[in-house]
Amino acid sequence: MELMKFGIDIGHNSSPDIGAQGIKFEDNLTLDVGNRVMTKLKALNHQVINCKPQRSRSITDSLSTRCNIANANRVDVFVSIHFNAFNGLANGTEVYAISDNARKKGQPVLDEITKLGFFRRGLKNGSHLYVLKNTNMPAILVECCFCDARKDMKLFDPETMANAIVKGLAGKLPDENEPIIHIPDEEDNPSTAVLRLQKALNRLKIPGKNGRSLVEDGIIGAQTKTAVQNLQRITAIQQTGIAGDTTWKGINQILSKRVLRRNHAGGIAVRYIQYRLGAENDSIYGPQTEGLVKRFQQQNGLVADGIIGNMTWTKFIG
Ligand SMILES: [Zn+2]
Repeated sequence: MELMKFGIDIGHNSSPDIGAQGIKFEDNLTLDVGNRVMTKLKALNHQVINCKPQRSRSITDSLSTRCNIANANRVDVFVSIHFNAFNGLANGTEVYAISDNARKKGQPVLDEITKLGFFRRGLKNGSHLYVLKNTNMPAILVECCFCDARKDMKLFDPETMANAIVKGLAGKLPDENEPIIHIPDEEDNPSTAVLRLQKALNRLKIPGKNGRSLVEDGIIGAQTKTAVQNLQRITAIQQTGIAGDTTWKGINQILSKRVLRRNHAGGIAVRYIQYRLGAENDSIYGPQTEGLVKRFQQQNGLVADGIIGNMTWTKFIG
């Protein structure tokens, strides 16, 4: 994709223009997500114009200043970030656009956010929205989800939301979002690498020969070797007992906490979840696995929706 100039409009946060108050404040959420979106777009070498005024004389002043900044800077796309609020039950994601070109920008953003598990309310006509009417370029307004809905606030994570928006806008994420946490290389002190391995296996709750967690001593012994073999068996990696690149990639894939849901190809991460739940280890997130995930979520005080997002992952691996 060619490099673009994005006008990012962090909703409200410009007194007296303040956002909705739900379970969380819209102002805090839009600021958190918006800042992450701007950082990530810049990391992809796109130009970013922050369209939010510091203070405003009135709501209209706040809105018109945002449009003026975008128009004066001739941004290619204007993206206004908001969170909805209604009656505490309404939930999900909607993206507003007026023109066909704006709809083309909005569709992938909506697609990416709903992949996180939010209900798809749709791509809607935003001809009533000030910032869409008064900007000269394709402009969208993203209602990420509902800040007064328990369901949405449990699922919401600012990092995954920002990633979804960036992926939708730019087609990809900057490299630091790749799920590579660390692959040891030759320069690594061997005992440090072993220590890291033992910590990772303990975090994944993969036991050693004695069925207990490993002593984190940086020394490869029978216990650590068995734990590596156990992990390799669970994730269908050749059982060498040695943690090479493939094994580390597997470990990192699990630790990256990608969202998993029914009928999604999840590979190693699904195999790992199946191991933790005592499901058949076939790497397919089908009905049996889903049932066990829902039960696990219920037992852990989470929304039992069968979607393994950040909160469910945290219950599994911290
Ligand atoms: Zn708003």
